[in-house]
Amino acid sequence: MTGVKETMPAGTMAAAPQVLLAHHLKQLKLPTVLREYDKVARECARDGVDHPRYLLRLVELELIDRERRMVERRIRAARFPAVKSFDTFDFTAIPSLNKMLVLELARCGYILRRENIIALGNSGTGKTHVALALGLAACQKGFSVAFTTAASLVSQLLEARDEKRLLRLQRELQAVKLLIVDELGYVPLSPTGAELLFKVFSQRYERGSTIVTSNLPFEDWTSVLGSERLTGALLDRLTHHVSILAMNGDSYRLRQSAGRRRATAAAEQNQATIDEADPETGEIIA
Ligand code: ADP
Ligand code: MG
Repeated sequence: MTGVKETMPAGTMAAAPQVLLAHHLKQLKLPTVLREYDKVARECARDGVDHPRYLLRLVELELIDRERRMVERRIRAARFPAVKSFDTFDFTAIPSLNKMLVLELARCGYILRRENIIALGNSGTGKTHVALALGLAACQKGFSVAFTTAASLVSQLLEARDEKRLLRLQRELQAVKLLIVDELGYVPLSPTGAELLFKVFSQRYERGSTIVTSNLPFEDWTSVLGSERLTGALLDRLTHHVSILAMNGDSYRLRQSAGRRRATAAAEQNQATIDEADPETGEIIA
């Protein structure tokens, strides 16, 4: 206890228990207990709750908070470009997508089975949204997640190779429970880039889950990866245990802006009508 005495202000004989308690709770990493113990103590005294139940309440609060903090940490570590969930996804906008399958996938059983997901479809049909929502669900269920685009992954791999830290990056990519590779197909890859990407998929094969989204049907993947041999080998691994999400349809973005244009046109039409109306009677003049 000498250490405690030394840090106490001169003239103080003993530290207030609150000071020591705060110190110990910090050391034990129980921030919620520290924040709540006084308030909960007063509530328990008021309600006649006994000591074990008081302690139980505090410990439960700490556990709930800790779980929330871990989910937040996983979300930050995943580097999602945006946090999106199925709550904001309109399944009726994309009838080709099997809603039951997607909701089943959101329960994350496929991650335990180390299976993959491929979402295929034209631009703007919600592939990235679905991938983000599946990623978020995985974070909430306690899995580590990493989100990247194919182009960015390849440039990270090339950079790591030039800086002689490729092995480390490959190990990191292998360790994550769910790797999401968005937008395979928008940019053709160099032969080395394609090889490095292939290596990532093959190192994760049956070790972890991968989600890939692409605007290209499988038969066109060779145009991105360059070589037929490599594409075949990659698809072989990726599709061995896979759920395919068919996401061809109208672009949600286009549809929304078309909707907005219609709304604007209608508003303009109304405005024109108002402009043409007699200000006194509201009757149309023209
Ligand atoms: P893709 O990746 O297929 O090109 P995105 O997922 O980026 O498409 O979707 C484009 C935009 O439209 C995003 O802002 C997304 O959140 C939204 N969006 C797409 N489909 C839906 C949907 N069915 N319900 C709600 N929002 C959607
Ligand atoms: Mg996208």
